[in-house]
Amino acid sequence: MQNHQDTLHHFIFENTPIRGNLAHLNATYLDALQHQALPAVLRTALGELMTASALLISTLKMDGALILQLQSKGVLKLLVVECNSDLEIRATAKWDQELLDSAISQHRTGAAFTQLIADGQFVITLDPKLGEPYQGIVPIEGDSIAEMLENYMLRSQQIDTSIWLHCSDTQASGMLLQKLPNQQTEDADMWNRVNQLAGTITNAELSTLAPAELLTRLFHEEEVRLFQPRPTKAFCSCNRDNVANMLVMLGQTEVEGIIEEQGSIQIHCDFCNKHYVFDETETLQLFDEAVPPIKH
Ligand SMILES: [Zn+2]
Repeated sequence: MQNHQDTLHHFIFENTPIRGNLAHLNATYLDALQHQALPAVLRTALGELMTASALLISTLKMDGALILQLQSKGVLKLLVVECNSDLEIRATAKWDQELLDSAISQHRTGAAFTQLIADGQFVITLDPKLGEPYQGIVPIEGDSIAEMLENYMLRSQQIDTSIWLHCSDTQASGMLLQKLPNQQTEDADMWNRVNQLAGTITNAELSTLAPAELLTRLFHEEEVRLFQPRPTKAFCSCNRDNVANMLVMLGQTEVEGIIEEQGSIQIHCDFCNKHYVFDETETLQLFDEAVPPIKH
C-alpha cells in the first residue's frame, strides 16, 4: 500500500519562482465515478481532468471551487470536473453512444480521446465563496488534456505551466510545474532546465513513486522543498436543500406544471447518482416557505 494515496503534495524550488504540485487520486478517482457507466476512454479523460483540477486549484489563493469543462459537438458532449479548495472532487461526462460505437469500430485500437472532440471549447470557472465568479472560455487546443490546460494557462493567464497526467484503471496521477510571473530570477535558464528534467518522467514513476523519491530522482541537483500532503476525496455537493432552492428559482407556475403532468418532481444528480423526489405537498410547501420577491 502506498502512503501517498489520495494526496496533493506541494513543492518549491528554493529561491526561485518555480513551484509544483503532485497529485495521486485513488479512492478519490474510483469513488467519484463509481455510479457512472463510462466508456474507458472517457473514464481515463475524467481521471486526468480530476487530477488536473486538484493540481490547478492548489496554485490559486482562493477559497471556493474550480470547475473545468470540455464542451464539444462531437462524440463527446461534455466533461465536467469540480474541485473545491478542500480538494473535494466530483466529475461526470455526457456523450453520444451511437457515435462512440461507430468511432470505436473505425479505430481498431480504440478511439483516441481527441478524436471524440469536434468544435470543442474549454470552459474554466472560478467560483469563490466570497466575491464574483470568473469564467474563461477558449477553443480547445492540444492533443491531450495536459496540453489543452498548458495552452489555456499560457494564452489566457500568461503563466508558464507544465502538466503531466496519467490515468489507469485504479489511479489517476499528475504533476504540475509553474513559473510565477513577474518574478526576476538570477538563473534565467532554470525553467527550461527543470522542464527538461521533469520531461523524463515515466508514467510508472509518476503513479508509483513516493513524492520525495520522485522529486529526488528527477531533480537531484536542484534544491527542492516538499511540503506536507493534503488529502483529496470524492464528494458531491448536491443536497435536498439545493434542489429545493433550484425549484423555487424555477418558479411556482413552471413547477406546478410539472406536478400536473408527472405527479411529482424527480431530479437526478449526474455526478453522484442521487435521486431527489418532491411530491405535490412537498412542492407546495416550498413556495409557502419561500420568501416572496422584493417589490420595487
Ligand atoms: Zn450529487
